[in-house]
Amino acid sequence: MLEKIVIANRGEIALRILRACRELGIKTVAVHSTVDRNLKHVLLADESVCIGPPPSAQSYLNIPAVISAAEVTDAVAIHPGYGFLAENADFAERVERSGFIFVGPRAETIRLMGDKISAINAMKKAGVPCVPGSNGPLTDDVKQNHLLARKIGYPVIIKAAGGGGGRGMRVVHSEATLNNAITLTKSEALAAFGNDTVYMEKFLENPRHIEFQVLADNRGNAIHLGERDCSMQRRHQKIIEESPAPRLPEKLRHQIGERCAKACREIGYRGAGTFEFLYENGEFYFIEMNTRVQVEHPVTEMITGVDIVKEQLRAAAGERLTLRQKDIEWRGHAIECRINAEHPETFVPSPGVVTQFHVPGGPGIRVDSHIYNGYPVPPYYDSLIAKIIAHGETRDVALARMRNALSELVVEGIHTNAALHREIMNDAAFIAGGTNIHYLEKKLAQ
Ligand code: ADP
Repeated sequence: MLEKIVIANRGEIALRILRACRELGIKTVAVHSTVDRNLKHVLLADESVCIGPPPSAQSYLNIPAVISAAEVTDAVAIHPGYGFLAENADFAERVERSGFIFVGPRAETIRLMGDKISAINAMKKAGVPCVPGSNGPLTDDVKQNHLLARKIGYPVIIKAAGGGGGRGMRVVHSEATLNNAITLTKSEALAAFGNDTVYMEKFLENPRHIEFQVLADNRGNAIHLGERDCSMQRRHQKIIEESPAPRLPEKLRHQIGERCAKACREIGYRGAGTFEFLYENGEFYFIEMNTRVQVEHPVTEMITGVDIVKEQLRAAAGERLTLRQKDIEWRGHAIECRINAEHPETFVPSPGVVTQFHVPGGPGIRVDSHIYNGYPVPPYYDSLIAKIIAHGETRDVALARMRNALSELVVEGIHTNAALHREIMNDAAFIAGGTNIHYLEKKLAQ
C-alpha cells in the first residue's frame, strides 16, 4: 500500500479521503490555505503544510506549492479529490514526472476525456450511446452547418469542446439564429477556455441526468457500480442525488453499465470515474466523463457497500481490482441532500461562524461534513458544508429517513438550503420519482 499521501483538497472530501487513508494505514499530509488551518482534516492529519493565502489560485490551484509539499514530507502520492486540480491533465503529468503517484487516471486519459469531442469519439468507438451530432468540430462553412443542423433536427445545442462547469453552450431553435450562435459560442469559448473549437449536438428537451460509476485497476480490469440519478439541479448544479434511478429498467442498467466498463478497458482507464448521460424516452446519451471521485459517490457506496475512495487508493497503489462484476449487489435505495451555506431564497453564499451544529443520526443515516461548532465558513470556496445520505430497503424508507434527518439537522449562525431540501422531500413529483433536469428550476420559478 501507499505509505503516505498528500490530500490536495479541503472541506468534506479532504476529510473523506483522510478517513479512507486511516482505514488503510496510510499516513496523511494535509495541504491548506492560511484561512483553512483549523479545518477538521488538517487537525486530524499526521502532518500539514500551509501552501498559500486564501484565494484558490494562490493555494489549492498552485501546482508547484502542492508538489513541493509532497517533496518536503516524503509523501508518495497525491489525491486531488474533486474540483481544484482533480481534472487538470497538466497537474497529473507534473505529479508523475516529479516521481509521485497521481491518485486518478493517467494524464493522457484526463486529456482525452477533457476534450468533449475526443471523449465522444472514444465512447462511440467503445459502443457507448452518444447524442446525435456533428461528430467533430464545426467549420466556418455556413451552408454546411445549416445542412448539419437540419439533418440533426432543431433544437440543437452548440457546445465548446473544452467547456466545463455548465458554461460554453448555446441552444438554437431555428436556422435564423444558427450562424450567430456558432460565432458567439466560439468567441466565448476562446475567452473562457482558450480554445474556440465548438461542436453541434441534438438538444434534448426534457431529459433526466443519470450517471454510471466505474472502477478500474491498471491491469485492464473494470467494473461498474450502477447508476445515480442527479436530475434535481439548479443552474446545472446538482443538489440531490439518488441510486438506483427511479423506474430505470434493470436490463438497461446492466447494458449501459457494461458498456461503460468496456469503454474503461478500451481506453486503459485507472481508478474511479463517472460516465454522465442524459436519459430521455428510454434512451441513454453520453455527454461527458468525470475522471475523479464525485461529490455524490456516497449514494453508490451505501447501496453497494463498496468504499470508492479506498478503491481509488488501491488502484493508485497498483493493486489488482479484487471486486468482480458478479460480486456487486445493489441493496435498497439511497438519497443524498447537499447542504450548502447559502441564503434559502436568493442562493447567495452565506459565509460566517457556525454557532450550533447538530448532526442527524439513526438507522441508515450518514453525514459527511467537515464543519463543527465554532467553525468559520470562509467566503473563498464552494458553499457545500454537509452531505446527508439516507439509506433504506426501499425508496420510501430512504425518503422517510431523510425527512427525519432533515428535521433533526440544526445549523445556526449561517444560512443554509436545508428548508429547500425539506420541501423537496415532501414534493409530490419527487416522491413519485423520475423528474427531469428542469423540474427544480420550474418549481422555484413558481
Ligand atoms: P459541463 O462540462 O459544462 O458540465 P455537460 O456537457 O456535462 O457540460 O453539460 C452540462 C449540462 O448541460 C447537462 O447536464 C445538461 O443539463 C445540459 N446539456 C448538455 N448537452 C445537452 C444536450 N445535448 N441536450 C440537452 N441538454 C444538454
